[in-house]
Amino acid sequence: MARDEPGRDPEAWDLVVVGAGPAGAAAALGALAAEPGLRVLLLDRADFPRDKCCGDGIAPHVLDVLRTVGAGHVVDGWTPLEQLELSREDRSVTGRMARPVWVVPREVFDARLVEAAVAAGAVLRRHRVRTLAAHAGGTLVDDHLLARVLVGADGAHSVVRTHLGEPNAGRRALALRGYAPTPDSRRGRQVIRYGDRRQPSYAWAFDRGDGLSNVGYGEFVDDHAGPDDEGVTRAILLEQLERLLPGSTEGGTQWRAHHLPLSGWRWDQPDGAVLLAGDAAGLINPMTGEGIYYAVATGVLAGRTAARVLAADEPEQAGRAHRAAVRSLLGRHLHHTWLASRLTRRPEVVDAGIGAAGRSRHAFDALVELGLGDGRITPRLAAGLATELVRGTRPTSSTRPTTRTPRR
Ligand SMILES: Cc1cc2nc3c(=O)[nH]c(=O)nc-3n(C[C@H](O)[C@H](O)[C@H](O)COP(=O)(O)OP(=O)(O)OC[C@H]3O[C@@H](n4cnc5c(N)ncnc54)[C@H](O)[C@@H]3O)c2cc1C
Repeated sequence: MARDEPGRDPEAWDLVVVGAGPAGAAAALGALAAEPGLRVLLLDRADFPRDKCCGDGIAPHVLDVLRTVGAGHVVDGWTPLEQLELSREDRSVTGRMARPVWVVPREVFDARLVEAAVAAGAVLRRHRVRTLAAHAGGTLVDDHLLARVLVGADGAHSVVRTHLGEPNAGRRALALRGYAPTPDSRRGRQVIRYGDRRQPSYAWAFDRGDGLSNVGYGEFVDDHAGPDDEGVTRAILLEQLERLLPGSTEGGTQWRAHHLPLSGWRWDQPDGAVLLAGDAAGLINPMTGEGIYYAVATGVLAGRTAARVLAADEPEQAGRAHRAAVRSLLGRHLHHTWLASRLTRRPEVVDAGIGAAGRSRHAFDALVELGLGDGRITPRLAAGLATELVRGTRPTSSTRPTTRTPRR
């Protein structure tokens, strides 16, 4: 990767993408798939391959998007996972997902995506972006790079989002992950166990298929907590992980924690030639903490939009067009995940979800779509949840023992 040297005259680019994670690489791929001759500069403060604190869960929807820009190969050689186990206290459901997921370390996944973007024609440069300023020809980056259109894909603590006045700033979670040997009991599955602290809170163990699992725990961060609040510390996160999934921290290495900017009811994108994608756009599923699908989906949309407005010589129309495209794809889904995340603050609703998923294949699949992709709370899922809530919050002899497999 070339290192950036500040020069005197601004260096002009059609598209500058800040951040080369999944959202940024996808933006470059989206733009170059639409217009291969575009001059695209991909900036990242890190060299690749680099680690990123994540659960490494790659939903099938991610690959659906990446295939459209010729990058569906990024999980090749890794083992697909089919089994999902959801549990809280003494209730649980285990089922086969309609489509498999992958667990690929981000050190591998992100580097492959960046390689694909460079192979498509993007120029990758190591550079930490610090300042952005409006300029007659577009946006001036750190006084020496000029972007006709700029995509902010610089993650949870985005400088581009700050430049735009912090749109979509909302609730956050904090999560910690590590890698630990996979015990036989958790081989071949994604395990999620809900906690009882600030909701949403859960521990996970995702088998990578190579003898190691990505294990972690995360919970909602209360930005308005009082002075007596102990906050969320690394020690608490580790303690909760071990409490919910005993033995999961044994032999664990590479422990890292990071914030998750959770999506809200409404998603916004200001007008103009600066676009947001992925975590920088405040797009992480508030039910599950999944953000890679949103990152690649909004990244590709941003790249395609950039190519289109540049071809029409109307870069200022980029923001309006991107807002419409993202809302069209995710708008209603975000309403449903917002609602679901509010409802699941109550443990009886989590129990009802587990119960409904155990009784009906439709409910199980609908919950997976809502949590991993762009699904909705379908009428049948809502009816299943209501039935479970009416059955009561306390386990009865008919709802216990609670390890169920979804029925047709
Ligand atoms: C513990 C944890 C577990 C998670 N588990 C999952 C999961 O299993 N599945 C899932 O789908 N999602 C998961 N997520 C969410 C997922 O990690 C994010 O949604 C995803 O990484 C968003 O991609 P992105 O490209 O928007 O941002 P990032 O992946 O954060 O990439 C941003 C890039 O921008 C660069 N950058 C930042 N600032 C600058 C700057 N000023 N100048 C230049 N470059 C900059 C960074 O170096 C980085 O490469 C998890 C998150 C956490 C914290």
